[in-house]
Amino acid sequence: MRHDKKTIILRICLLLALLLIVTSCTPTIPKEPPKNMEQGEKEGVEQETIEEVEEKEEMIDQENKDEEVDSPAVEIDYQQIQPNEIGHIMVVMYHGIMDNPPYHRTEEDFWKDLKYMYDHNYRPISIQDYVKQNITIEAGYTPIVLTFDDGLPSTFSLIEENGELKADPHCAVGIMERFSETYPDFKARATFYINGHDPFEGAGSVKDRFEYLIERGYDISNHTDTHADLASLNAEEIQKEIGKVDAMIKGILTDYSMDTFSYPFGKRPKEELRKWIGAGSYEGHEYTYQMAFREGPSGPFVPPIHTQFEFYNVPRVRGSEGAEGDLWWYFDFYEKNPKQRYISDGNPNRIAVPEGKESNIQVEALQGKEIYTY
Ligand SMILES: [Zn+2]
Repeated sequence: MRHDKKTIILRICLLLALLLIVTSCTPTIPKEPPKNMEQGEKEGVEQETIEEVEEKEEMIDQENKDEEVDSPAVEIDYQQIQPNEIGHIMVVMYHGIMDNPPYHRTEEDFWKDLKYMYDHNYRPISIQDYVKQNITIEAGYTPIVLTFDDGLPSTFSLIEENGELKADPHCAVGIMERFSETYPDFKARATFYINGHDPFEGAGSVKDRFEYLIERGYDISNHTDTHADLASLNAEEIQKEIGKVDAMIKGILTDYSMDTFSYPFGKRPKEELRKWIGAGSYEGHEYTYQMAFREGPSGPFVPPIHTQFEFYNVPRVRGSEGAEGDLWWYFDFYEKNPKQRYISDGNPNRIAVPEGKESNIQVEALQGKEIYTY
């Protein structure tokens, strides 16, 4: 059979028309913004190099980030959440994970502490966030700071398994990691105040141990070289005790900054010698500390921007449940006095307090944060 010439031409015309309709209806979406020469090439239009475009994009990214910082991260119902960012933040003092109360805590009891915190809306924050009052936990929650003194192996030690180093599952770090795997919205955050002699012991080098902790968001800081009674030392001896450990940690973790110190036995130097905690030097190595913790049972736990906050005499609560003023005593206290608790508004750049409480804020300590009353 022979096709008619006309029919063939008609078919071709129809096909072409169809093709035209289809292409004109399909919106042309460029996959990428014009970046290269071909797309931007026009007479009189200045050519942007890829580097320039990337630079601009980076600037825009930065502007977006700045905007994020300036504006509140979340909008919340203040009356419902009732944030109180001048309320109490407990700093808990632990030592070993062992059966020797009240300074040590068994594995079961430590888990019980964490579970209570979790169930009652406490969330651990890092010591660095505490110092800067950079509270990023969700609105409605109370920050809590966990500290471990003396660098004991039961608080942290590495073990070797199949040629790899991992945290002993029964040390405090192992327990915290297991806990935050079980409850992922409870981050493992804690600070370890160490002495100079073989901190933590166990497998791996001191460097391995320090790096393991820092990489996972924990902090390490200073508890003097020999766990010294600072009340009995002179200026030179105090600086040696602090400077040696400061140099040891910074010798391993270069660029690591430490802001807080913990007094062995909770004992401070004689009054005229206390300035050597804040700054000093040993064998040419200089150190500074913004804050120093004493021992519990003590309180009240006003936050760093509170007018009553004493930077070199910060209380901690003993991680125990035996005596008045211990952790479980305070758990109970805050259940009965919930308005005393720090309640986050979820925005680290805004300090939200109930009307009338703003007079307790030390305005110089705000570091650019805004005060919001409701
Ligand atoms: Zn100690």
